[in-house]
Amino acid sequence: MAEKPAFTGQSFEFVQPGGGVLRGRAIPTIGYRGMHSFELVFEDFFLPLSALVGGDEWLNRGFYLQMGGFSVGRLQTAGRAVGVMDAALADSLAYAIERHVFGRAIAHHQLPAVMLGRMATRLTAARQLSYRAARRLRHGADQPEASLAKLYSSKMAESVTRDAMQVFGGMGYAEETNVSRYFLDARVLTIFEGTEEVLALRVISRTLSR
Ligand SMILES: Cc1cc2nc3c(=O)[nH]c(=O)nc-3n(C[C@H](O)[C@H](O)[C@H](O)COP(=O)(O)OP(=O)(O)OC[C@H]3O[C@@H](n4cnc5c(N)ncnc54)[C@H](O)[C@@H]3O)c2cc1C
Repeated sequence: MAEKPAFTGQSFEFVQPGGGVLRGRAIPTIGYRGMHSFELVFEDFFLPLSALVGGDEWLNRGFYLQMGGFSVGRLQTAGRAVGVMDAALADSLAYAIERHVFGRAIAHHQLPAVMLGRMATRLTAARQLSYRAARRLRHGADQPEASLAKLYSSKMAESVTRDAMQVFGGMGYAEETNVSRYFLDARVLTIFEGTEEVLALRVISRTLSR
C-alpha cells in the first residue's frame, strides 16, 4: 500500500525524500468520469515493511488476497448497475409523460410503452438478483452468487440505458440530458470487476460443472 500526498488535477508527481518517484496521469475515458483511473509509474520508490498488506503470511500471494475482495466488488458493481437503470427508467418515464408527439404523450404510444415495460422488468429482476446475492454473501456464500448478479445486472444496464436513450429520441444523444451519460457509464460495468465473458466462463460455468 503506497501512500502519497493528495493532489488535485489529472496528473501528479510525488518525489520521496530519498529520491524515489511516483508519477500518475488520469486515463481519459468515454464515461464513468466521477472516478478516474490512473496510470502509475514507480521509479526507485521504496516503502517500509509496514506497507505490506497482509504481512509476511501473504508474501507472494497477493493475487489470492485480491481475489478475496472480488465478491464484494462484484456485488457493488451489480448495485451500481441497478442504480443507473433506476435513474434511466425514472428519467424515461418523466420524459415519456411530458413529451407529446402526434397529439399524445409518447408513453401512450405502444412502442415506447413496450420499452418502458421491458426496462422496468429488467431493473426489477436485476435488483432482486442483487439483493439475493447480498443476502447470501452476508450468510457466508461466496462465488458465484455475486458474479451472477454482476453479470446479469451490468448486461441489463447496457440495454436499459440504451432504451432510455431511445425513448428520449434525439435529445437522448445530447450531453445536456442525463440519459446520454447513463449509457456511457453503464458500458464499463460489463468490463471491470471481471469481464462478462470471464465471469460466465471462469466463475459461473466452472462452479456449475463442479
Ligand atoms: C474505468 C475502469 C476502472 C477500473 N478500475 C479498476 C480498479 O479500481 N481496480 C482494478 O484492479 N482494476 C480496475 N479496472 C481494470 C478492470 O478490472 C480490467 O480492465 C478488467 O478486469 C478486464 O481486464 P483487462 O483489461 O486486462 O482485459 P483482458 O483480460 O485483456 O481481456 C480482454 C478480452 O479478452 C477476454 N478474456 C480475457 N481472459 C480470458 C479468458 N481466460 N478466457 C476467455 N476470455 C478471456 C475478456 O473477456 C475480454 O473480452 C478498471 C477498468 C476500467 C475500464
